Amino acid sequence: MANFSLAIHGGAGVLAKTNMNESLKVLYLKGLKEALEAGRLVLKRGGTATEAVVAAVVSLENCEVFNAGRGSVFTHTGTHEMDAALMEGENLSAGAVAGVRIFKNPIKVAAAVMEKTEHVLLCGPEAENFGTEHGLETAKPDYFFNEFRHKQWLAIRDTNQTKLDHAVVLPSSPPDKKFGTVGAVALDVFGNLAAATSTGGMTNKRYGRVGDTPIIGAGTYANNKTCAISCTGHGEFFIKAVVAYDVSCLMEYRGLSLEEACSYVVKDKLVKIGGEGGLIAIDKSGRISMPFNSEGMYRGFFQNDEPNQVFIYENAEEI
Ligand code: ASP
Repeated sequence: MANFSLAIHGGAGVLAKTNMNESLKVLYLKGLKEALEAGRLVLKRGGTATEAVVAAVVSLENCEVFNAGRGSVFTHTGTHEMDAALMEGENLSAGAVAGVRIFKNPIKVAAAVMEKTEHVLLCGPEAENFGTEHGLETAKPDYFFNEFRHKQWLAIRDTNQTKLDHAVVLPSSPPDKKFGTVGAVALDVFGNLAAATSTGGMTNKRYGRVGDTPIIGAGTYANNKTCAISCTGHGEFFIKAVVAYDVSCLMEYRGLSLEEACSYVVKDKLVKIGGEGGLIAIDKSGRISMPFNSEGMYRGFFQNDEPNQVFIYENAEEI
């Protein structure tokens, strides 16, 4: 049983093992490690699970290699539209934003929605007005510009396709640029759970498409009675399968363990409907589950003062 613990993900879309190389691996692992340390700092000094998941996600949003904040993918019109959500397990408080273009850290805007409004989900220009009124840091479009992502978008811009970031593989991809959505779940010393997720969504998305990330119960959920969850993968399937809430329900109503519930939803239910991806989850004992049905998932965790463990494929990586 852990007093505090935290898990993070950097997306279920990873480079195929055959395309992964050492320098690239170092970048991902560094990004994961920094995020774990940001969360650990908060939990160790007695901070809350909410503060810890926000700190971890901010760190991942600032890291260019992941598809969130700075590293967000391009939409069909060449912009960046980001979604984020935060939820607390103690009282089911939640805040989320969808389709915001200007914030460095959309997760902080989601936190402000939770803390300062009576709403749960704000979207588009009005959400941006809300964020700027509350002093959240903005950035010009070039902050989000990334050569690799731009090429990724150009490769499918003129098609009707919408792709997960890792699904657009360019033969000429620079070896140091590959991305993924981000999230964190934590248990704090007070016994509370929290979940946070942030994403640039899917490459070439259009018409204001919003994925599962900011939908409470689909991509993000936390309930002290069961678990806290952050998902990554093809959002439309995660919305239809109400993935995060489904895991929580299996625990609450059917008495499944965290591991059983997560594994059933990701490796059975999602697979049957064609939903590629994974999730990270934590329960009130600090147990962690991180299943995926894709080739890999950037992820990591720690429990109490034990060292960080990070993974890309099946086995732990050296850091
Ligand atoms: N779930 C995200 C979305 O559909 C994408 C991802 O996790 O890679 O917007």
